[in-house]
Amino acid sequence: MNFGIDDLPVRDELRGKSPYGAPQLDVPVRLNTNENPYPLPEPLVERIAERVREAARDLNRYPDRNAVELRTQLAKYLTDTSGHEVGLANVWAANGSNEVIQQLLQTFGGPGRTAIGFEPSYSMHALIARGTGTGWISGPRGEDFTIDLAAAEQAVAENKPDVVFITTPNNPTGNAVPPETVLALYEAAQAAKPSMVVVDEAYIEFSHGDSLLPLLEGRPNLVVSRTMSKAFGAAGLRLGYLAAHPAVVDAVQLVRLPYHLSAVTQATALAALEHTDTLLKYVEQLKAERDRLVSELRVIGFEVVDSDANFVQFGRFDGPGGSHAVWQKILDRGVLVRDNGIPGWLRVSAGTPEENDAFLDAVRELQCLVG
Ligand code: PMP
Repeated sequence: MNFGIDDLPVRDELRGKSPYGAPQLDVPVRLNTNENPYPLPEPLVERIAERVREAARDLNRYPDRNAVELRTQLAKYLTDTSGHEVGLANVWAANGSNEVIQQLLQTFGGPGRTAIGFEPSYSMHALIARGTGTGWISGPRGEDFTIDLAAAEQAVAENKPDVVFITTPNNPTGNAVPPETVLALYEAAQAAKPSMVVVDEAYIEFSHGDSLLPLLEGRPNLVVSRTMSKAFGAAGLRLGYLAAHPAVVDAVQLVRLPYHLSAVTQATALAALEHTDTLLKYVEQLKAERDRLVSELRVIGFEVVDSDANFVQFGRFDGPGGSHAVWQKILDRGVLVRDNGIPGWLRVSAGTPEENDAFLDAVRELQCLVG
């Protein structure tokens, strides 16, 4: 019998939908998921092994449910890098910032409630909304991918969402949202509902500008979410976290699964945080490579969105087959970039200088063929 998903009694809103699925292809140069291209340095690998060995001795016990040591170190990292005092009570951690976002939507969204994002933006916000039964509203972005404040304020005022997502720097476009825009949207969201405003700063360490953490002062409905997947080069670790008023941290306890962060995860993240200075040096290299990609792509003749992230959105590919045909041609040259389904545009993550050269060679070749 041919039995599939559609034969199961799955929830109506999941029927006919596709799961998140960036292709994981085995090609020489993979620049498609905004990963950090640098493997963890050997001394850190050793330190992880040491801390995990220690943790393994206690694996018969559940881990620290409140991840106190880890949250304390994350708070220290945020304070040291932003100049804004963040304490243990302000920080919560989970398995990737995707889980942080899921916990926020389980707490503040859910059936009968809505969330808004300004699209194109990180597609998982909408998918996690769906998974948590939260209605999704696609808010507007301008032609140049900036948030048009008047249009965004109007969307918030009209829809009165329970949760507002602002991704800065934005994925997939790479541009940052000015702090004044975030502040104005926070005010609009409070006037409309009041609602929670989640600033997704997954890529903030790569930005030319500063984190919005100082805006948390006096704004209990604001949340800043972060991840160790990008700047810390630890996408495989699955560690995301948030900073907010302590009441928000108390609120997400209502939905988090007990012992959600394994002892192995906590030990590994703590080891990585001990090596913050070394890891942030790679961030500086990646920022320089990102800037090089932006300028070289412009020299080749592409349109490029200003980037504050570790990736670059470039185009436009309005010819036959659109951006997907170009994506395939770049892949044929051994380089995997990302087609986010935004007509006319592709996204490339900043890799090592050699990987970026391979990518630039591939697109130069294409430009010769087309131009
Ligand atoms: N937010 C944004 C904007 C992202 O691009 C990503 C990952 N691509 C995430 C959150 C989730 O990252 P993770 O779950 O690995 O922390």
